[in-house]
Amino acid sequence: MSDLRELYQTTILDHSKTPRNFGKLETANRTAAGHNPLCGDRLTLYLEVDGGVVRSAGFEGSGCAISTASASMLTEAVTGKSVSEAETLFQTFHQWVAGSGEADLFSDDATGLGKLAVFGGVREFPMRVKCATLAWHAMSSALAGDGATVKTE
Ligand code: ZN
Repeated sequence: MSDLRELYQTTILDHSKTPRNFGKLETANRTAAGHNPLCGDRLTLYLEVDGGVVRSAGFEGSGCAISTASASMLTEAVTGKSVSEAETLFQTFHQWVAGSGEADLFSDDATGLGKLAVFGGVREFPMRVKCATLAWHAMSSALAGDGATVKTE
């Protein structure tokens, strides 16, 4: 069990300290903002979608380690995926982190989430589920093209 916690902590620490794809994406043609008032997380997600495929992704904003790490890992995970694959990943991720019951943090293969599976660790902290899913809600809104600010409340 200590290995699982270590993986969870080192992965989140790594991505929150050194966020990938951080900054405004100038080529973006889809964007959405997210706000989690409960924690104070704010971010803007940028996507460049071409031919039904997410060509690149980026984000900016400020928030807690979990929201930042989740946004960072999202941008890596969805780049190169089709819009429908990205949506499916969002659904899978959301069910995974908000899921009840025994969390098996190492069933990466079963979930298809890969590294994102470490966020299963937030199940123990229900308040943190909103931090972990904020960027994903923003991505879903950006893909839907409704341009609204996503609030977790
Ligand atoms: Zn947060």
